[in-house]
Amino acid sequence: MGKCTFKGGVHPFDGKEFSKDKPIKELFPEGDMVYPLSQHIGAPAVPVVAKGDYVLAGQLIAEAGGFVSANIHSSVSGTVKAIEPRTLATGGMCNSIIIENDGEYKEVEYVPKKLEELTRDEIRERIKAAGVVGMGGAGFPTNVKLTPKNPEAIDYIIVNGAECEPYLTSDYRRMLEESDKLVKGLKIALSLFDNAKGIFAIEDNKPEAIKIMQEKVAGEPDIQVKVLKTKYPQGGERSLIYATTGRSINSSMLPADAGCIVHNIDTIFSIYMAVIEGKPLTKRIVTVTGDGIKNPGNFYVWLGMNYRQLIEAAGGLVGEPEKFISGGPMMGFAMYSLDVPVVKGSSSLLVFKEDVVSKIESSACIRCGKCGEACPEHLLPAKLAGFASKNNEEGFVKFDGMECVMCGSCSYICPAKRPLAQQIKAMRSTVLANRRKK
Ligand code: SF4
Ligand code: SF4
Repeated sequence: MGKCTFKGGVHPFDGKEFSKDKPIKELFPEGDMVYPLSQHIGAPAVPVVAKGDYVLAGQLIAEAGGFVSANIHSSVSGTVKAIEPRTLATGGMCNSIIIENDGEYKEVEYVPKKLEELTRDEIRERIKAAGVVGMGGAGFPTNVKLTPKNPEAIDYIIVNGAECEPYLTSDYRRMLEESDKLVKGLKIALSLFDNAKGIFAIEDNKPEAIKIMQEKVAGEPDIQVKVLKTKYPQGGERSLIYATTGRSINSSMLPADAGCIVHNIDTIFSIYMAVIEGKPLTKRIVTVTGDGIKNPGNFYVWLGMNYRQLIEAAGGLVGEPEKFISGGPMMGFAMYSLDVPVVKGSSSLLVFKEDVVSKIESSACIRCGKCGEACPEHLLPAKLAGFASKNNEEGFVKFDGMECVMCGSCSYICPAKRPLAQQIKAMRSTVLANRRKK
């Protein structure tokens, strides 16, 4: 059977060798824990605790501030020390609940349930109560995603096991180590729809994960594993939907408009934990890797924990690394402080000895057309970057600049090392800001 794919894309060095064979290791947090009230798309959560309150691990500390928002729970037991602005990995500030961890990890009593005894509304309510959001980085509240306008029109729930960003291995390890719970998580999501089939979509550079997931779904008529060609950005939402179903969406559509819902691997795991075990989202897997880290690995991390502890757990730094990235090297962002908390969307910490990107010098375009060939959205990146450099909003929009998914493939492939994606991204932000003013 042919492998699923999309047109365009690039093949960056994958760097997964550093951590792919390192089993997930649980890290117990030390010191104060920081819980930003915005760890998701939508309205910030609203604190339901005050300074001086004692809380248990798993206790609700901030509730969703609107329909598109998410609950936040403490991952440790301890005392609320403050509610104040703290720095995030992005460099921005966010009002946060600070909890002094008492090191005892006393938990609330969780209420497990069997899937058969729950109605669809109760399933959605348990996912909502647990504060589950998309854990691939976007942070969209999962219960909202699972409540589309036309549920009968949903044909596919696609679980994104592509993990196409170089270096990241947390989804891979989750598939190897928790495959049963992933199948159960997908079955829970499928139970909310009359017509949907499930797909685990996995790139062909993960043969062990493909094998184990194929074995686990062998007796499941409504679930299949689809093997994807290894290519970046195969795991991008639009590329993934096209590769697995042949359907296309654009910036004015939701995946549900094409009959699809896409979930990250860790999100599917969190759905299982919330619905069956009754546990809120208080932990996630983080890959800590790169040539600037002594012992790269995959860690099961308690949300709210300081990034510095991740570095200690991975054996410390090699020399004085120049670059720290949160997320993957293609779509992640540079970090300027490590004194920031792990949040629901923190998939990885990459540490590199050398900051190669900032030393790159760009030269004139040689009109080779490679950026257009690499663009998964079939755009003309060189032309769009030209409009961006002249602040030509009209031309940028006319040539579909708003369809850019900011994957970075054009910048990566450009032999003249032009910062195409950065220019296009900046112009997109300007257009969106101007639209909001109108
Ligand atoms: S123009 Fe946008 S979507 Fe196309 S390759 Fe560049 S960053 Fe990716
Ligand atoms: S890849 Fe770079 S050099 Fe080639 S056409 Fe695009 S911008 Fe110009």
